[in-house]
Amino acid sequence: MKIPSASRWQRFTACAPSGHLPVSYEESGDAATKGTIIHKFIETSRKTGSRERALKAVPDDLKPLCYAISLDDVPASAESEVVLVYFGQYQRLNEVPKGTMRDDCLIMVADLFDYDKDTDAVYVADWKTGRGFVPAAENNWQMKIGALLGARVVGASKAHVSIIRIDDAGNLHEDKAEFDEFDLCDIEEQMLATLKAGYASERAMGNGKLPVVTEGQHCKYCPSFLFCPAKRALVRAAVGNPEETVKTLEKELLRENYTEAYLGLRRLADASKALWKALFSRAQEEPIPIGDGMVWGPSVVTTEKIDGDIAYRVINEIGQQAQIPGFAEKAVGFTCSKASITRAVASVEGAKDLGSSQAAVVRRLIDSIREEGGVEVKTTERYAERKA
Ligand code: SF4
Repeated sequence: MKIPSASRWQRFTACAPSGHLPVSYEESGDAATKGTIIHKFIETSRKTGSRERALKAVPDDLKPLCYAISLDDVPASAESEVVLVYFGQYQRLNEVPKGTMRDDCLIMVADLFDYDKDTDAVYVADWKTGRGFVPAAENNWQMKIGALLGARVVGASKAHVSIIRIDDAGNLHEDKAEFDEFDLCDIEEQMLATLKAGYASERAMGNGKLPVVTEGQHCKYCPSFLFCPAKRALVRAAVGNPEETVKTLEKELLRENYTEAYLGLRRLADASKALWKALFSRAQEEPIPIGDGMVWGPSVVTTEKIDGDIAYRVINEIGQQAQIPGFAEKAVGFTCSKASITRAVASVEGAKDLGSSQAAVVRRLIDSIREEGGVEVKTTERYAERKA
């Protein structure tokens, strides 16, 4: 078994077979690419001390977001992208003597890492850029592994962890937790027990036994979804006979068993997402024939994006020459959102000075627009899973 990296331990601790079952696709995509770019921007900004330099490597569509990220509150002494490893012993990857490390080890890349000798505490932080569900820092296994590995590497007795979520406007939202030596010992014990369970499950499967999986919310992004015994039956039924699957679910509804119907549909939706992911990655290798001489696979679509400022200038000029009043105004509309105001406050010189902080300036501008009747409040209803 290749030990899952720290970011996969939330699932691994809940379901040991997820650590060794084959994977049908790698977790990647637009969100992951965006996350990598933002991580790199922050790392380069901190290392070079120049956000302008770091911005040069950022694609245009992500420049406003990156520009708006304020790193003022990040501890200056914290190192970026520190690789911590456990392979029977705890070490920083760059300090492992050549030839002593096992191929297989538990890896945690700490986006920020620091050690304060005075308080004997390490600080481990992780930037999050996606919108997916992230368990709270105190229950988050990625952060627990970070706390343990970080503390053991320097021999600290405490760990402060922080999940820093970056929203689409570049604002930072922090979720913190603290672990003392008792907590760290507890985490270590659970970590070793999880590894033992993973190896035992792998051995049992090697001996022809079906892995004993534990289903739950952690299944959502499991890359082994299509090899999971619990999901295979569902996927086979759904793909082989979709009408029958729908009928079964309808029956659940008719029996007024709404909970089962909802959970069944959710599993089906997750299974369908996993299947699509697997299909996308297969079609990327080779288009899939779908009958009648047609194939399904990637094709290049070209779209054009018109720059509003230039379009206004050009159409206005032509309109004025031809004496057509209001031509440009009709063709080019203005749009505004809280995110665009926040980006402007962060990037336009002098805008931040309009208030005590960036957030205060944004609030002031929106309040003024509201007073002028420029804010329309829309209430929409959405369905989401939440605490009862
Ligand atoms: S999909 Fe299967 S293997 Fe993956 S976490 Fe869920 S139950 Fe475990």
